[in-house]
Amino acid sequence: MKKRISLITACFLLCFIVAVQAPAQSSNADIQVSAKARAIQESAIVVDTHADTPQRFLDEGFDIGSTDPNDVGHLSLDKARRGNLNAEFFSIWVDPATNQGHFAKHTFDLIDSVYEQAARHPDRMIMAFSVADIERAHREHKLAACMGIEGGHSIENDIHLLRDYYRLGVRYMTLSWSNTNEWADSSGDIDDPKIQHHNGLTDFGKQVVLEMNRLGMMVDISHVADKTFWDAIAVTKAPVIASHSSARALVDAPRNMTDDMLRAVTKNGGVVQVNFFSGFDDQNFWNAAKAQAKDKAAAEQKYIDDLKAQGKEVNYIELDRIDREWTAKIPRPPLKSLIDHIDHIAKVAGVDHVGLGSDFDGVSGATPQGIDSAADLPKITQALLDRGYSADDIKKILGGNLLRVFGEVERVSRDLQAQSSPAK
Ligand SMILES: [Zn+2]
Repeated sequence: MKKRISLITACFLLCFIVAVQAPAQSSNADIQVSAKARAIQESAIVVDTHADTPQRFLDEGFDIGSTDPNDVGHLSLDKARRGNLNAEFFSIWVDPATNQGHFAKHTFDLIDSVYEQAARHPDRMIMAFSVADIERAHREHKLAACMGIEGGHSIENDIHLLRDYYRLGVRYMTLSWSNTNEWADSSGDIDDPKIQHHNGLTDFGKQVVLEMNRLGMMVDISHVADKTFWDAIAVTKAPVIASHSSARALVDAPRNMTDDMLRAVTKNGGVVQVNFFSGFDDQNFWNAAKAQAKDKAAAEQKYIDDLKAQGKEVNYIELDRIDREWTAKIPRPPLKSLIDHIDHIAKVAGVDHVGLGSDFDGVSGATPQGIDSAADLPKITQALLDRGYSADDIKKILGGNLLRVFGEVERVSRDLQAQSSPAK
């Protein structure tokens, strides 16, 4: 898939972002979910803030209603139902490398792909644009389909496009992806001297944040460079989210958040949604993935070059197979690695400021043992119970915190719209 190629390119060139694949075989860490954990899971509104499944919709023609037992994808309506996942923020991610010159078109195509899935399954999935929509979907036992744009390059430096995306239902935007755009520095290339950086957010970038506040679009600081984070925190009038970020105190990846950042999110009233990617959650995995990154990228490049020489198009499924072969060499970390990040952020930022941002279908299977799809979410609830978390605190982590932040972003938007006119 396109995301994978771009991640690989990034890791090859920058050694920051490593796309790794985990073996698809079932894990050796089978956690039994107790009746108590099941009851908590089922009484919560469970919200995940990052799944890359739209690329599957668009590039593979994947149907979210699929019940194919051989499908290694993380998300389907069936898997969501089994894990009691109530709301998913589908990631609208435009590969900057392969969509130069038409970021907006690809953004619209991905948005369309989510609507088309909802239209295909009206009995089980519904588009959702507000906290009230998510609550209604929950009552109707349907998956609430929300959307977040991953990477500010999608707006093509045009505030009008930002507003168009809001009108189509996009409710968060990650200020940058792994690429620095023309108004926000990214953690993915911040040490690359060939990239023109801005020392965080430009004046236009700050204007984008304020317009997002006014519209009621959540400001997402996952992926951004540290200075961009601090600029966004200083400028925003509403709580921010990290839609899929883990803790740098536990794994030294530049994409992860420092404890100072976590405390700043507490002060801001926001929430950090923990990423399930093994590389961000387990230092051994991260080290092993970095160590093999160059060789893996070379193997993939050879495949791409061979195809080009034959005048053929790159086959993403075949590339995925190569990726998985390499990743199979790295042991999958235990579920404990993921739970440690939730626990750390709950301790440093507070239990009101942590949630779940899986990155499902964006890491090609590189999740901890026991988490093979959305159907396994109740194992996280069990693991939190085992660590002594109360039912009320677990419900906050599963979705309550995100809904509080989303509601506050809606309230700030109403206040700002009562006071101001749109940015030019
Ligand atoms: Zn991401």
